[in-house]
Amino acid sequence: MDPPAPRPFRRPVLHQALVAVASLLVPRHDRAAWRARQDRRLFEWWLLAERGEFPRPGAELAQLLREAFTHAWRQRVPAERFRKWWGSPLAVIELACGAAAILALATGGCAYTRGLIRLADVLLAQRADVRSDVLAAHAFMLAVGWAVGATTLVLRHPPMSFGRLSAWALYLFQCIAATALISVAWIEGGAAWRACFPLSEGTRVLGTLLLSALYPAALGSTLIWITKDQVRRCPVCLHRLEMPVSIGSWSSVFNPPATELLCAEGHGSLVLPDAEDIAGRQWIALDDSWRQLFRHTPA
Ligand SMILES: [Zn+2]
Repeated sequence: MDPPAPRPFRRPVLHQALVAVASLLVPRHDRAAWRARQDRRLFEWWLLAERGEFPRPGAELAQLLREAFTHAWRQRVPAERFRKWWGSPLAVIELACGAAAILALATGGCAYTRGLIRLADVLLAQRADVRSDVLAAHAFMLAVGWAVGATTLVLRHPPMSFGRLSAWALYLFQCIAATALISVAWIEGGAAWRACFPLSEGTRVLGTLLLSALYPAALGSTLIWITKDQVRRCPVCLHRLEMPVSIGSWSSVFNPPATELLCAEGHGSLVLPDAEDIAGRQWIALDDSWRQLFRHTPA
């Protein structure tokens, strides 16, 4: 008896549509040619899949689509330009604004948080006999989270000499934005959890406890990350330093292990001890004669 013939693979219409969506990322003057190339790749994949050439056609197709989206994105934003943006202080501000917009959209304009603020307003004005237990529980956890955050900043803040006023302003912005975003996300996340499990008391309590434990932990670790990120920025242009090079040795007393980083704009280099000693960082400013070596071609 002959083995059953392989089932013909269906034409990937959905994936063709996804390639069409990806093509919107490509600049208009290259879009038609780019889409024709991707459609041809998809068609060739389909022919091979029908012949049974791929042991896992789904995985191959997913890879094809991933490559198409990545390539389309690279056409829109070249890797060098993205790297430069990612390391810039502007990226911090834009990402914080983007996260705030997404949070507001996902939570109906932070409806539960606004409700809590109104409740606090009524309570403080003593205009009505309102329930204060919900407010007290949130205020307590916010106080715990902010106490953890403040302790983290006291213990791990950058050295006072780490940069100009603009560096401190960026650091302050990051700390305030992270605290506000994580606090609102925690409040809205808790409200969404309670709305999803209105009937099961056990699940509600478990979820509330879990979120309450996660909140100070997330805030503390984010502030530590912000401090680490900040001390790796150029104190002049506030861009992230690049090209890390390991120097020194653990066996040497006079030359301990450290990482040396450079500002891509040529403002200087930073030596950061590997022993997590932020205060031990050493900034070496370069004069203007070095600038020509670092200047890269505009993206
Ligand atoms: Zn710089």
